[in-house]
Amino acid sequence: MAEAAYKHHGLHYRYINCEVSPENLEAAVNGVKAMGWKGFNCSLPHKVSIIKYLDELGESAQLIGAVNTVVNSGNKWIGENTDGKGFLQALKQVIDPTGKHATLFGAGGASRAVAIELALAGVKTITVVNRSRERGETVVDLINKNTEAKASYQPWIDGYAIEPHSDMVINLTSIGLYPNVDEQLNIDLDSIQSHMAVADCIPNPPQTHFLKTAKAKGCKTLDGLQMLVNQGVIGIKYWTGNDVDPTIMHAALKEALRIKE
Ligand code: NDP
Repeated sequence: MAEAAYKHHGLHYRYINCEVSPENLEAAVNGVKAMGWKGFNCSLPHKVSIIKYLDELGESAQLIGAVNTVVNSGNKWIGENTDGKGFLQALKQVIDPTGKHATLFGAGGASRAVAIELALAGVKTITVVNRSRERGETVVDLINKNTEAKASYQPWIDGYAIEPHSDMVINLTSIGLYPNVDEQLNIDLDSIQSHMAVADCIPNPPQTHFLKTAKAKGCKTLDGLQMLVNQGVIGIKYWTGNDVDPTIMHAALKEALRIKE
């Protein structure tokens, strides 16, 4: 999707994929530095171990404790995290998060990133619903200790009912991800109300059971593909300074993932 944007805008860059094993990470980063790349993305298992090879971290990357985007600022290599930023940018097209209440399902890396960005964007209160109490409470503590937002944990009981005052409801679990497309959130579907903005981080398939149900109830919805595309847009802005057209990247991503809907 990055190369589609470069081609469309006539930008003289390349986006190449490299498989780097953990024992070669330092050598790979030194190679990038030696070759003067503008930056790179890194995925699991490098999101935390990359930090020791960088000079500085952006605010949210520091709070999240993980990096997925590295930027060559000229004299420094800076680690950023666009997981939550991409989501927030897409969310703002659907709802202004300032002063609102968000319910988050899940407490893994994606939840951590989204919770931090929501809190930094002015969300007032956050409920984290997660199967494992320990992981849920870790995200809650992170928010309460580092941001103005107030977060609390709720155990994920069978047929969990979403709090009616939720303005945003976001699935940040891996439930519904291909190939387990029939897997569903264990929630009371009647608790989804039309005033709620409903988002799902699952990029494939983008129209999950959760989103289809919310749409049928009249909710505004946001899918995981939009989150992923916006991460790409933000990364290209960091590296090249250019604002690229998300619709070009969206189309390229759908083609790559063979998504027809
Ligand atoms: P993690 O493995 O860190 O966390 C997974 C979370 O899902 C945990 O909270 C886990 O709960 C929960 N979970 C998994 N299965 C179930 C289940 N059957 N019932 C209840 N809870 C469940 O993953 P990530 O946070 O890194 O990623 C989560 C999803 O987000 C992935 O599907 C990934 O594809 C997507 N993602 C999308 C992005 C995008 O741009 N669209 C960006 C980043 C991620 P517990 O703690 O109890 O185990």
